[in-house]
Amino acid sequence: MHKVTSSNQVAIVTGASRGIGAAIAQRLARDGFHVVVNYAGKAEEAAAVVRTIEATGRKAVAVQADVADADAVKRLFDSAVQAFGRIDVLVNNAGIMPSTLPMLADTDDATFDRLFAVNVKGTFNTLREAAGRLEQGGRIVNFSSSLVGTALPGYAVYAATKSAVETLTNIMAKELRGRNITVNAVAPGPTATALFLDGKTPELIERLSKANPMERLGTPDDIANAVSFLAGQDGAWVNGQTLRANGGMV
Ligand code: NDP
Repeated sequence: MHKVTSSNQVAIVTGASRGIGAAIAQRLARDGFHVVVNYAGKAEEAAAVVRTIEATGRKAVAVQADVADADAVKRLFDSAVQAFGRIDVLVNNAGIMPSTLPMLADTDDATFDRLFAVNVKGTFNTLREAAGRLEQGGRIVNFSSSLVGTALPGYAVYAATKSAVETLTNIMAKELRGRNITVNAVAPGPTATALFLDGKTPELIERLSKANPMERLGTPDDIANAVSFLAGQDGAWVNGQTLRANGGMV
């Protein structure tokens, strides 16, 4: 188990009701953080994550907020301060990917707008709040995708949102000069969650799981381990970077 960081440090994890975010929330709690478990709509799943954290002796609260909504994000940060008095870590994990992935030429406006609203504006909204409200020595971990590197047909708009997140990461790291706050991104490869599995045939899942030399899908815990490193003491000298966690696929 990881060394406990501090007994009063607080992490907000967006999209923590399931998938990678739930694993991150649970891992950061094991690392010693109190955790704000953000979710969009699945209140029962978020409550279950809170219960697993409380069972380990850390504190957690579930807070509903659509990250695409700037006012809701303000309320999310207010709730964190109200519950725990401070914010040390922000993990911008919330993200969406459509289960059908047409070529760019066949992508409709609504799909483009919603992808950018959640993945880019959502990350912007939380970064803007965090800039004024994170403690000295804090940590921000954003979420990109290894698709920025693999550039597979069908993923143009989704991958473009993640390229934007990588750029926000680089520049935000520099803009926080003097605060001792690091800003990095994690870029998973195919990881066994609803976001990846939904809408794919078993054959396609099998093929994509063999795209890396480890010949398996990533697990939410694989990704949570990388986030834990960047959010903890050992990651202090890594700043403004995107860490691809994909078993060596790209
Ligand atoms: P899931 O679909 O399994 O979970 C998504 C989580 O995000 C849920 O907790 C969901 O909440 C929440 N969420 C969705 N939209 C919003 C919103 N507007 N506001 C707040 N929360 C929201 O996704 P993953 O765990 O697979 O993905 C996590 C991150 O990792 C994403 O940024 C994704 O792009 C990235 N990623 C994933 C890969 C994969 O293969 N799985 C590969 C590369 C990157 P609720 O439960 O309430 O709906």
